[in-house]
Amino acid sequence: MSISSPPMQRVSVHGGHSGEFCCHAEDPLEEIVRAYIDRGFAWFGVTEHMPPPENRFLYPDEIAAGFDAESLYERFVRYMNEARRLQRKYAPAVRMLVAFETEAYSGALAYAQTLRRRFQPDYILGSVHHVNDLPIDATPDQYFESAEISGGVDALYCDYFDRQHEMIDALQPEVVGHFDLIRIFDADYPARLKRPEIWQRIQRNLALIQKHDLILDFNVRAMMKGMAEPYVAATILDAARRMGIAVVPGDDSHGIQSVGLHMDQGMALLQKAGFDTCWRLPSGGRATPAGKEA
Ligand SMILES: [Zn+2]
Ligand SMILES: [Zn+2]
Repeated sequence: MSISSPPMQRVSVHGGHSGEFCCHAEDPLEEIVRAYIDRGFAWFGVTEHMPPPENRFLYPDEIAAGFDAESLYERFVRYMNEARRLQRKYAPAVRMLVAFETEAYSGALAYAQTLRRRFQPDYILGSVHHVNDLPIDATPDQYFESAEISGGVDALYCDYFDRQHEMIDALQPEVVGHFDLIRIFDADYPARLKRPEIWQRIQRNLALIQKHDLILDFNVRAMMKGMAEPYVAATILDAARRMGIAVVPGDDSHGIQSVGLHMDQGMALLQKAGFDTCWRLPSGGRATPAGKEA
């Protein structure tokens, strides 16, 4: 009760996937932007998924909707234009950043660089959703199929973190998305994260994040999917804090309903873990404290 601190601002470094521009999300982007404003966010980044460089990386829902790589690129162009329009339109009400989320499968890193040069987003969110070029966060079947290629779940983790290291090294994304997503279908993850060959890779990747002064996405969508804790897990979070790495909440919203969902829990966890809650902006600036102190 001794020190009164300003209220924590609601922010999201990872948000605004919309049904308008993503086959596994819902609602028009403008309605999602309005939801962020209505729910009191000080700032947020919209981070739509990048399109695939070639047809073999289409997701089943994209194929079912009649897309190919070319038409997904065209949709991405529309996304960037619409996001910039909304950014200008709602500038008096909220600080909205326009970003996109990467992939890291074969060919994705070079393509992400091309998109970044062409569209000049405010920042990029560097994520890995594939190992052995198979999606690891879509279905348990594909997760364990990929693990079999790697040579087991331990090896799958190692391959995931190696791929992530390559992604961070190549792109230096301002924000690293759901750092430990690889535990998504693994009930034994607390023990597995501690295995030396895995923990060393985690430390190595954190060191690279620290070196480039990148932000870690504290992804609370994990809790919506039934996980006990957000990505990043508490053990990794503790290491990040000791290394002075900025960790900022992300709701990873995929529709109006998930805007801000579990955000208050996530912010409380970060505060309790001892993080700076004057959340750092991915654009390199720093958000001003919310409201006035009484
Ligand atoms: Zn998504
Ligand atoms: Zn993601």
